[in-house]
Amino acid sequence: MKHDKISIKYKIFLYITAFATVILILLWLFQIVFLDDFYKQIKIHSIKSMAVTIENNVETENFQEFLASLAQEEDVCIRILDEKGKTKYSVESRPDCIIHKLPSSELFRFYSKAEQNGGTYLEVFSMDKAMDKRAPTGYPFTNGFAPPRNLPGNIIYVKILSTGNDTHAIVMLNTTITPVNATVNTLRIQLIWVTGITLLMALLMGLYISRKVSEPIIKINSSAKELAKGNYETTFHGREYLEITELNDTLNYAAKELSKVEGLRRELIANISHDLRTPLTMITGYGEVMRDLPGENTPENVQIIIDEAKRLTTLVNDILDISQLQSGTRKINVETFNITESIRGILERYNKLIEQEGYRIYFKSDKDIWVNADPIKISQVIYNLINNAITYTGSDKTVAIIQSSTPKGVKIEISDTGEGISEEMLPLIWDRYYKVDKAHKRAAIGTGLGLSIVKTILDMHGAKYGVESTLGKGSTFWFELTINKNIEL
Ligand code: ADP
Repeated sequence: MKHDKISIKYKIFLYITAFATVILILLWLFQIVFLDDFYKQIKIHSIKSMAVTIENNVETENFQEFLASLAQEEDVCIRILDEKGKTKYSVESRPDCIIHKLPSSELFRFYSKAEQNGGTYLEVFSMDKAMDKRAPTGYPFTNGFAPPRNLPGNIIYVKILSTGNDTHAIVMLNTTITPVNATVNTLRIQLIWVTGITLLMALLMGLYISRKVSEPIIKINSSAKELAKGNYETTFHGREYLEITELNDTLNYAAKELSKVEGLRRELIANISHDLRTPLTMITGYGEVMRDLPGENTPENVQIIIDEAKRLTTLVNDILDISQLQSGTRKINVETFNITESIRGILERYNKLIEQEGYRIYFKSDKDIWVNADPIKISQVIYNLINNAITYTGSDKTVAIIQSSTPKGVKIEISDTGEGISEEMLPLIWDRYYKVDKAHKRAAIGTGLGLSIVKTILDMHGAKYGVESTLGKGSTFWFELTINKNIEL
């Protein structure tokens, strides 16, 4: 099974069981396997530190009582000898201590071992060896000294103390190691129970937790699959814990956005097909009339067909433009060019409109200005803005274009005297296919793409732009370009 194919349920279950097993193994190791060693080590440590305590208090007042209480407290037998092997102090707090029964040869052996060993010597007699009848050699006593058969394990610690004037005292401490077998047996039985219960609990908890954790994920997953199928009305319900609640909210948000996009897409297809169909119907209609009815083959009718075909071309070009611009397949080609000259050139093309339809288009500029930008794209921006101004201007048919220098570059303003745009609509007009008055304006003019193209091009230039408009008083669209700025492509 591949790692990422294991279900979360199974994984959590595995982790919990593994955790319980590790704890149990540790428990077995410490309580059963190493218990003997731990116990021995603790005893050895305490006997050694006791020797140090004695050394620090040697020959103080009431030394005998001090030793007695120490021996009682630590459950240790004490024997202190002088250099000649004469006992000076002796506390026999346990009957099974062996230091009081040792022959002098043994005492001497301990003493010389300690001397060789730098002043201290430790010997541990394991109980097993002491009890083994067949191997008395295992027990390290010489000279026929045989310890009692039922002797518990013993620890003997010898420390040579100097008591001044080159004289020495030998401290012998003796403690026993109570056999832990009985304890271990009890513990083992307890541990078997503990192991069983813990494993069972880990199993149940693993099942419970894994179900609790995975349930909302499984639920969300099945909703997400619905969403992927295109069911945008899907709602996500999974509120068991923080992360899931957040994921849930994110997915609900995504679903809402997707359904919005889906709505827009439908509207867009409806718009485009409507926009394409209108001129096509006109072209077909006029064509048929001209074919079938004598006398209808007039230049006016041909002009209508040409105009409609042009509208179609504009629409298709706009759609292509915007999709190329927004998908990033079209890059801008920055050049240094005279924007004042560009505007004059564009305005020449409106001469016919001015002559025939009585429009008045003013252009005011302080001086010729060179900018760093894409000349073709900026012309497109200016065209679109002028076209809109002409389309939406008021009955005086006036449009004004003002070019002014700013500290950083140039500002172009295009104003009309039309109805203006209401404040709520202002942020929306830059959207693709957005038209303020869908019903009646669209039939006559516009694809709803113009301002979206303007916005995309100006964004690509990193230019500032905006619109000021009050209802009934006309609108002013403006943008600023920087001079000599290195625009990133
Ligand atoms: P259209 O092709 O419909 O003009 P645009 O993207 O150029 O599309 O404009 C979007 C909408 O913004 C227009 O439908 C119109 O309602 C509004 N608009 C644009 N320019 C002006 C303007 N100068 N005066 C009033 N309304 C405008």
